[in-house]
Amino acid sequence: MIEEKEILREFKTLKGLTLSELRDFFISISEPKFRAEQVFKWMYGNLSDDFTEMRNIPKSLREKLSASFNLNTLEYSTSEVSPSTKTKKYIFKTNDSFKIESVVIPEQKRTTLCISTQVGCPLDCKFCATGLMGYKKNLSAGEIFDQYKLANQNYIDSEITNIVYMGMGEPLLNFHATVKSLRIFDEELTAKINLKRITVSTVGIPTKINELARTGLNVKLALSLHSCFEDIRNRIMPINKKYSLAENIEAIKNYSKKTNTKITFEYVMLDGINDRDEDIKALVKLCSTLPCKVNIIPFNSLEHMNPGGFAATLKPSPINRIENFADKLKEKNITVMLRNTQGDDIAAACGQLAYPETPFLRKGAL
Ligand code: SF4
Repeated sequence: MIEEKEILREFKTLKGLTLSELRDFFISISEPKFRAEQVFKWMYGNLSDDFTEMRNIPKSLREKLSASFNLNTLEYSTSEVSPSTKTKKYIFKTNDSFKIESVVIPEQKRTTLCISTQVGCPLDCKFCATGLMGYKKNLSAGEIFDQYKLANQNYIDSEITNIVYMGMGEPLLNFHATVKSLRIFDEELTAKINLKRITVSTVGIPTKINELARTGLNVKLALSLHSCFEDIRNRIMPINKKYSLAENIEAIKNYSKKTNTKITFEYVMLDGINDRDEDIKALVKLCSTLPCKVNIIPFNSLEHMNPGGFAATLKPSPINRIENFADKLKEKNITVMLRNTQGDDIAAACGQLAYPETPFLRKGAL
């Protein structure tokens, strides 16, 4: 028979366990199953990381749990607020000393938290600072959730109403932890956010998109599209050589049908590369084939990362071309969101999240 001490050791952490995993845990240490609901609610609903606060759990059990588990997977390191948009960027430190970034974006009707799923990213999209930083590690489900916990505890201006998995890393390359964190958010016992207000953004990994559709989570999906042409996508997103746009389009159509959700296309505007008339035409054609909307994102400078090669040549489309691009899509009854460059003054805007090892590469106060 396995000793209780061994079981406690085997479950390295409780933070990041789903409700059914927590039930397994409590059963394995001969505790009643309902302890799982209680601890789950404390960790994810009340955002507590201190067993002594969990007063509906017997003291002896609290002491045992507290001696074996640390519920903090991240530590607040620092933060910076954009004076112009009030976008707030957080740097959190993992227990193994990696730094990750999360961003809170206040808007008129909602407050969105952008969270990371990896430290760095292996995919090297040419318009993205995280790609320039390289890949360090996958985050655990606990580390993904704790970005929400810490942002909540540190952001007092308004309540976080939405989450986008769009920070550092490709969520579908860290599939297991991403899905576990979504299952946690999906439970009624979890804090005031649910899957209807969460979007997972991917550059496009068709097998994983299909797998996500099969989980039954029905979370909203965004595809980082950035061009409707394979050759252009190959240049700006090298992963396209492995998983073509054609395969991805098939996967997202299947996803949209199976989950009954609209797909969001993310489209970062690059001068002379994907902002031409033929790009508008191709995007209009694509949008006519599935329920979708388009998020147009002005390209944000990567200067703080000293890019080289092709990445160094990328420039933002002029604002009048961006507006014309959006208008032409709207004329065809396509839903278009034209994003502001929220937070580019603190390197917190889309595609700018990175934590270089050598701080002198950064502009600003971080
Ligand atoms: S855009 Fe996303 S997938 Fe591409 S390099 Fe950046 S973080 Fe990775």
